[in-house]
Amino acid sequence: MKALVYTGTPQPEVQTKPIPTLEKPDDAIIQMVHGTICGSDLHVLQGDVPSVSPGRTLGHEGVGRIVELGPAIPRNRLSIGDMVLVACITSCGACALCQRGMRSHCLTGGWQLGHLVDGTQAEYVRVPHAAGSLYVLPAGVDPRAAVTLSDALPTAMECGALGTRVTPGSTVVIVGAGPVGLAALLTMSLYSPSRVVVLSRNETRLEHARRLGADETINTATAPERVEALAAGPGFDAVVEAVGVPETFALCQRLVAPGGSIANVGVHGRPVSLELDKLWGRNISITSQLVDTVTIPTLLRLWKSRRLDPALLLTHDFHFNDILEAYEQFRNSSRLRMLKLSLSFLEPNKVGSSELEENEKVHKSKL
Ligand SMILES: [Zn+2]
Ligand SMILES: [Zn+2]
Repeated sequence: MKALVYTGTPQPEVQTKPIPTLEKPDDAIIQMVHGTICGSDLHVLQGDVPSVSPGRTLGHEGVGRIVELGPAIPRNRLSIGDMVLVACITSCGACALCQRGMRSHCLTGGWQLGHLVDGTQAEYVRVPHAAGSLYVLPAGVDPRAAVTLSDALPTAMECGALGTRVTPGSTVVIVGAGPVGLAALLTMSLYSPSRVVVLSRNETRLEHARRLGADETINTATAPERVEALAAGPGFDAVVEAVGVPETFALCQRLVAPGGSIANVGVHGRPVSLELDKLWGRNISITSQLVDTVTIPTLLRLWKSRRLDPALLLTHDFHFNDILEAYEQFRNSSRLRMLKLSLSFLEPNKVGSSELEENEKVHKSKL
């Protein structure tokens, strides 16, 4: 099979690898149908994640069909032929940390795919702890858009919306309008905030923010005076940091209202300063966490009942055969108006609605 492999350099390579086989009784083998590329994949290529060894297949997101199941997996949970969503977090479901809902810190799981074991940017992938890491796609949802539920949307929900404790009527500001910042806009809108402002230095990303329902957008590069006016105002109940640099974290501290919350979603590579001299008495909270993917079932339900449209985050389509080109464009995503891209593993003539029909067929055959 073909797999996209980290070579220890910024340039990944398509290599031929053997199709993975079951190694543990709770593994599953998935034939990939759709994948995507994440900002974390780019961090791996840049050498920012030294725990990834050269030779590792990249990718921790995607949708595929179960072709093999280990004997320890309850057959009422997963079956051969199911179309499943692969969560970016692998979870045993049984250890002390999984039991407390912190699957990202699972003692034998966490971020495994495309990190410590071979990932989803390959025609087949072995998923450890399959029962806790795969979700059967409900009938009526499009497998192509489901890739946004592997990581981007649960991250936005758990690290963003839930971190801020947004409630109906809250005022919201999102600093950063990349795929996860905009996914935060979608998930926070579920709570009916009274005002949502999105800040970014990238005008095309702000156009996407307006398309996705932001009440107001501010270009921090071209309109610094508007940022100052915002910081001088009453502040926001719910502040999301979705960039991950000291400057944006500092800005969030100036934007939070008394009693508000800052949810850190950005991945920080440098220390930031915490201005407790100004914040100590303002009744605020700051949260920061890894995604546990525990909200995937909720997000699937919201999607199925049309309260949430994950397809809004998908802007580009590639075939897996063109994955190197997809990476090239993803590196320039903000210039190319790209948010999340879809990588199809299907025969090039089987794109679009046929996949939805395929998923329907699986469900009908189970009735
Ligand atoms: Zn990711
Ligand atoms: Zn666990």
